[in-house]
Amino acid sequence: MKDGRITMQPMTTQPMTMPPVLRIGEFPAAAQALLEERLDLFALADVDADPALRERVGAIVTRSNYAIDIALIERLPSLRLIATNGVGFERIPVDFARSRGITVTNTPDLLNAAVAELTIGLVLALLRQLPQADRFVRSGAWGRGAFALGSSLAGKRVGIVGMGRIGKELARRLAPFGVEIAYFGRTRQALPLEWFAQPAALARWADILIASCPGGRATHHLIDAAVLDALGPQGWLVNIARGSVVDEQALVRALERKTLAGAALDVFECEPLGGSPLRGFDNVVLSPHIGSATHETRLAMAQLTIDNVESFFSTGQALTPVG
Ligand code: NAP
Repeated sequence: MKDGRITMQPMTTQPMTMPPVLRIGEFPAAAQALLEERLDLFALADVDADPALRERVGAIVTRSNYAIDIALIERLPSLRLIATNGVGFERIPVDFARSRGITVTNTPDLLNAAVAELTIGLVLALLRQLPQADRFVRSGAWGRGAFALGSSLAGKRVGIVGMGRIGKELARRLAPFGVEIAYFGRTRQALPLEWFAQPAALARWADILIASCPGGRATHHLIDAAVLDALGPQGWLVNIARGSVVDEQALVRALERKTLAGAALDVFECEPLGGSPLRGFDNVVLSPHIGSATHETRLAMAQLTIDNVESFFSTGQALTPVG
């Protein structure tokens, strides 16, 4: 809220003043406008330049591709909330924040459809070679012969690594394509789908392996050389989870040796992707981390981020805390 507007608390607790909010990272224009309209928003440079303001910052709003470090949290004595605009929160030191009584929120569920749509787009682009087909027509090559045959999605076995909110949305939307679906996760769920206790076992079964689990230490290189080997020369890898989930060097080696049919990647170990050898393979489809990047979804995420801030400072309860 601009001008330190007071939000009334209907219950017995004291009304709380909406504190200054620190923005870390860039937001899409419409989301940024909404944040500025609804919150008393400051950039890091403003906060750095004004010690009195820094002392009063009560919340951080950020996006999941920006890291919040402990040193920053320690510089903000009034910080009570970190609201990230995204579902992944592996770049926020959640345990440290919790030890300081700071709540962390994210924006789950409302991006499931957008991420599932992108994933299915990547799968189809990979199997039907859509980027290559586009280049084929544009370059005039069509006049000199037929385009190489692609592969059908129908009848394929799809293994989902991480059957959470996004994984389930993906499974629901993939089913009408006539695929078989199975999954890996640490726990077997009450789902009418086969569960594999190891990612390599799922990869051995699957034609297409899709990573949709969280990033962070626990899933670092979960898809390693052994899993890629198990997927095999007729297998495709799709990663919309986090770059850290896939051992990228092992992936490059598998592509060089043709022990993998191809890959579609929305996320990378280092983003933005620089001079990676991944850019040189014709059987790799690349997208710049755009799983949730639609106008509708990004605006809804910004809205929920703001609602979390307002709810937390008016009722003491965040709407979608993590953990
Ligand atoms: P979620 O509901 O928490 O689901 C995560 C799933 O991963 C759960 O089924 C969980 O099952 C599994 N999992 C967690 N830790 C694991 C581990 N150590 N090993 C194996 N499986 C593990 O999360 P979500 O909302 O579906 O989001 C999933 C992830 O998608 C996010 O964290 C983010 O990294 C990624 N994402 C990417 C984009 C993009 O733009 N590309 C956009 C949004 C989200 P178990 O607990 O049974 O293991």
